[in-house]
Amino acid sequence: MTGSSKSSQAGRRPSSALRAPSPRERGEGIDIAIVGGGIIGICAAAFLAEAGRNVTVYDRTGICEETSSGNAAAFAFSDVLPMAHKGMIRQLPKWLADPLGPLSIPPAYLPKLLPWLIRFWRAGAPEKFEASLAAQASMMKLAEAEWMALLDRSGTRPMLREDGSLELYESEAEFRASLPGWAARERFGIGFRHVEGGDLAALQAGLSPRFIRGTFVPGWKTIADPKLLGKAVWAYAQAKGARFEMARIDRVAADEQGATLTLADGSTRQARHLIVAAGAWSHLLARQIGDRIPLETERGYNTTLPKSAFDVKRMLIFSGHGFVITPLETGLRVGGAVELGGIERPPNYSRSKALLRKAQKFLPGLDPSGGREWMGFRPSLPDSVPVIGRASEGRPVVYAFGHGHLGLTQAAATGRLIRDLVLGQTPPIDLAPFSPQRF
Ligand SMILES: Cc1cc2nc3c(=O)[nH]c(=O)nc-3n(C[C@H](O)[C@H](O)[C@H](O)COP(=O)(O)OP(=O)(O)OC[C@H]3O[C@@H](n4cnc5c(N)ncnc54)[C@H](O)[C@@H]3O)c2cc1C
Repeated sequence: MTGSSKSSQAGRRPSSALRAPSPRERGEGIDIAIVGGGIIGICAAAFLAEAGRNVTVYDRTGICEETSSGNAAAFAFSDVLPMAHKGMIRQLPKWLADPLGPLSIPPAYLPKLLPWLIRFWRAGAPEKFEASLAAQASMMKLAEAEWMALLDRSGTRPMLREDGSLELYESEAEFRASLPGWAARERFGIGFRHVEGGDLAALQAGLSPRFIRGTFVPGWKTIADPKLLGKAVWAYAQAKGARFEMARIDRVAADEQGATLTLADGSTRQARHLIVAAGAWSHLLARQIGDRIPLETERGYNTTLPKSAFDVKRMLIFSGHGFVITPLETGLRVGGAVELGGIERPPNYSRSKALLRKAQKFLPGLDPSGGREWMGFRPSLPDSVPVIGRASEGRPVVYAFGHGHLGLTQAAATGRLIRDLVLGQTPPIDLAPFSPQRF
């Protein structure tokens, strides 16, 4: 019995001397396959193509057509605080009480979400919080340097706006509650100025008098439009030789030699290296490789109004209400909020409408007409630190996902780190806190 089963197995899998070599063994196929044409995948493609590598990006919808297209456009280099911090956790009961408030959890999704929520809660413990903060601070230094250099190399620097941000408070209590967060940022050399009265009005005219104080962060930058930036960086990557194939990847498999991608039409592609940068869907592919990573999605909503809706001078941040207003080249974007509702549920655009109503109260005179509503899927890990690192067991697979609220900000740095990992070069920051194996 044993003998016959062995011989039949040998019949199914002939030794490499007898069987025809696979495309990979014949040296055919792709050098580097990237699943995901969002801002993370695009930046990784740009860095690898610059290094002379043969890169193909696979995406089911196109280049920068999903979450990376409609975000709030901030290069939030000073935003180093992990989401699970005391100030935030203290707000949770108030926020959850309002079904259209800054944070919502559809009750039916709660059982599925619970393990992630428990990890999120634990990530707020002082020593874990400090470790995530230090990791984010090191990442943000690199993020700024790499974006500025990539903007120059790709000729996209004219898309940068360097007019800072203004965070707003409705009460002394709210302002005081923000101070520990500012003190933490100060430790990492992040510049800011608390303002009130005439200074506040000079930074943004027409604000509701309910805002009695603000904090101005001069180093905060935004870009003209995230979708346009993504397309422009892709054009640069393409000029360096990167290629694109529109396809949904249904299956991935990998061994020490390389990876096989199975497309929705059943055809396959072979690659020497695989990069998983599939945003909020990345964990589904990582699981097929053998890695279980607790990725969730913080769904966010906004409305983009015509530019003429209000003269907003710089990004306005209403932390107490979980949303922002960004003046873009292409309109005025009002939105944010977090809905922990998973990747399947249809959008609930009453959330966009609720944020717009608030914006009208906060900027009396704002014209709410002619807006375009949108929802995106922030790919979020419980400690707010992305996964950037190799798959387990020596497979030639690198993960680059889970950037949560900061994927645009950290995309160029992630691209650089991915390039270093693929090329076997020493990365400029310690990647241990970003390890896919840390969970
Ligand atoms: C409301 C909102 C505001 C935000 N504001 C900011 C901000 O101001 N600054 C900031 O830094 N970040 C912001 N973010 C976060 C930022 O948008 C994300 O972190 C970032 O876009 C994630 O990029 P990504 O490339 O990882 O994922 P995505 O942009 O989601 O790209 C992943 C791509 O993978 C593709 N894909 C997935 N699975 C497959 C498959 N099996 N086969 C083929 N293709 C697949 C998808 O089609 C998608 O195009 C915001 C997010 C939201 C929702």
